[in-house]
This record gives sequence, C-alpha cells and structure tokens, in this order.
Amino acid sequence: MDHTQDRALRHRAARVLPQGVYGHQSTALLPETYPQFFTRGEGAHIWDTDGHAYLDLMCAYGPNLLGYGDPRVNNAAIAQLQKGDTLTGPTPLMVELAELMVSMISHADWAIFCKNGTDATTMAKTVARAKTGRRIILVARGAYHGAAPWCTPAPAGILAEDRAHIHYYDYNDAESLSAAVAGAGDDLAGIFATPHKHDAFTDQALPDPDYARRARALCDQTGALLIVDDVRAGFRLTRDCSWELLGVRPDLSTWGKSFANGHPISALLGSETARDAAGSIYVTGSFWFSAMPMAAAIATLEILRDSSYLEQTIALGHRLREGLSKAAHAAGIGFRQTGPVQMPLFLFDDDPDFRRGFAWASDMLEQGIYIHPWHNMFLCAAMTDRDIDQVIEAAQTSFQAVSKRLDKIVPHPALSTLLAARSA
Ligand code: PMP
Repeated sequence: MDHTQDRALRHRAARVLPQGVYGHQSTALLPETYPQFFTRGEGAHIWDTDGHAYLDLMCAYGPNLLGYGDPRVNNAAIAQLQKGDTLTGPTPLMVELAELMVSMISHADWAIFCKNGTDATTMAKTVARAKTGRRIILVARGAYHGAAPWCTPAPAGILAEDRAHIHYYDYNDAESLSAAVAGAGDDLAGIFATPHKHDAFTDQALPDPDYARRARALCDQTGALLIVDDVRAGFRLTRDCSWELLGVRPDLSTWGKSFANGHPISALLGSETARDAAGSIYVTGSFWFSAMPMAAAIATLEILRDSSYLEQTIALGHRLREGLSKAAHAAGIGFRQTGPVQMPLFLFDDDPDFRRGFAWASDMLEQGIYIHPWHNMFLCAAMTDRDIDQVIEAAQTSFQAVSKRLDKIVPHPALSTLLAARSA
C-alpha cells in the first residue's frame, strides 16, 4: 500500500507540529502503516491522502453517528452558515436546541452548550463544587473524562495540586465507591461515572445496576451531585441519558461527539437541583454561541428522535460480533469482543504489548478496514450489512496473518509509556 503523500505530510508536520500530531492520533499509538491524514469522509468511509478508501470503524472517535457528511445535517448547517455563525450573541437556535435536548433527556431541565467534551466535564466538576461548597470529586480509576489537568491520562506538565481533590474508586464496585465516599467525609462534591466501562486498553464492562444505584443513593445521602459522562456513549445506547437504561437519573450529564453528527458542539445538561449552581459559575468561550453547529445539532437530534438509527446500529453490531466470533474461532485465535455491540472493543488473548492487535489491525487496514487495536470503536447508521460482511471477510484472512506478522510489528515504546502512566 502506497503512503507517499502521507509520509510527505508527516515529514512536514514534524517541523511545525509537536511530534507531528498530538493526542489520540499520535502515530506512536497506532500501527506504523496507519495514515495520519485524511482528505474526505462520506457515509461510513474515509479517504487518506494517498487515495485509499477505508470503511471506518472509528467514526472519528465517536462524532460520526449518522454517516460522514449526512446531507440532512449538513444542509441545515450550511444554511445557517450563510445567515451567520459566530456572532456577538447567540441566535434563537440556542433556545430551540436547549428545548430539544431537555425534551429528549429525562433528567435534564437546562443545558449549557460548549465545544468539546472536556469543556462539559470540567464545567460539571465546577457546578458540583458550586452547588455543594465542597471540594472532592470521585472518578473511576482509568476512566477518560478529557484532557484538562484534572483528568488527562498523561502526567507531563501536571501538578499533584491539579488533582488534589480528585479521588478514585473502581468502576462497577459498589464497595469501592462507598469506601471512597466515606473517605471524602463531609467534603464530597460529586461522583463521575461513564455509562459503561469504556476505558482504552482493557475489556469494556457493562454497568452493574447495583453500582449505579449505589452511586445515586450515596449522592442522595450526601448531597453530592451524580454526573454521568455521556460524551462518548451518548445516543449510541439509547435516545436518552445512558443510565436511563438502568433506571438511574443523574443530576448532571455531559455530552459531545455525536449529537451534531461531527459538528463542533458539546453540552452540560442538568436537573432542576443544579440550575442555580450552574447559573452562578462563569463559563463561556468565543465559539460557544456559534450557530452553525447548533443548526447541525437540531437536525441531528430530530433524526435521532424520529429514525431507527439506533436499532439499525445495534443490528449491525450483532452481525459483526457473531461474524468475528466465528472467524476467530475458525482461526483458533483467542479474540475478545467487549462492550455494547454498537461500540465494540477488540483485544487478543496473550497480548500484553498489543502486538497481536497491531498485527491484526495492520492487515485489516491493507484490506480497506480501519479498526483500532486498543480503543473502542463505533458503528454508524450509514453502515450496511454488506459493509459488516466486508469486515468479517477481511478478518477471516487477517486472523491468519496475525501469527505471521508478530515479529515484524512492534508497538512503539510510547504506547508502553502511556500504559505505565495509566497503571501508576
Ligand atoms: N468524556 C469521555 C467519556 C470521552 O470519551 C471524551 C473524549 N474521548 C471526553 C470526555 C472528552 O471529550 P473531548 O475530546 O471532546 O474534549
């Protein structure tokens, strides 16, 4: 596979961007052959700068829910862009969008819109402290809530003081949560939980209802706020806050990624109990009132509310899980698929440094399938049965290739460094 253009861009990027690219797309964290740059996306596919098309199971790490460039969403966005986007104040769309979200998300009575998931999670932390006048925030060990100093996974440049009042518990472990709450004494402001355990590098786990109910009960007892971080899983599991599936209502929920189908907007939603606290903090941003992403969000949410996108992605997910499971079995390979079927994570047995995962992913890429060796993936509503069958067919040959490639593909040491930092 020719990567000439991508290599040339990487070379230029290395001069003008730290490490050539930052964050989750750092090339050190993905197989060597993975393209870093893409020129376009349409439906379920992305194209790299060398003209290769890939069926994209990463879906932009979540934002692509209906399909890249969905015309229903983009036409609404473009129409608004032509009228006005970033103005001195918000357009009426902000009210319309807040009304729509509040009508769809059972626990929510108000919304604040922002740009990235990290804006929303950081604001949730501030609201919880403003509401309670207390300091301690509980976070599940290993959970990702963004890249701000209080929650970023890598330690460089971060002070212990940045996390002085962030305490940790084990996800799905009600006893560990209770112990962390007891440890916080009378200083507990809030408890963060992701909808399910979707940490990178490790098998996903569905939420234990006892743990979720305990989180609610502990917040009720202490007056702390329960925060469900739906940035990644929002609208992928249900058309409401994800913990509605368990009958557990948070006080705050954080949203991002998918609800404008890739347009840049995120949100903090809250219940009546947190309204005054949310109104008391100072939060804003130059682009937080931009109208184009709000138009895109309204169009997306109407489609989510009125279409069968969810049932479609779940059906595709089952087809994929069954097909891959059969293919792995036939190849005699220990292959684990975890998490909800529409947000799958794939890991290999006996693969501490992800070598098998990297080998498999590299071979899948050559066959035109973009998967991730250690992060959960996403299915989108633009995928078809045929696309899923293509993944399964590619996997049948790629599973055979894993053992042959093991010596050739060695994950970059940066991956081990990141892993070590996480387990420290
Ligand atoms: N919370 C969760 C659960 C996430 O998955 C992410 C992003 N992967 C964030 C927060 C942060 O979102 P963003 O990258 O948009 O700041």
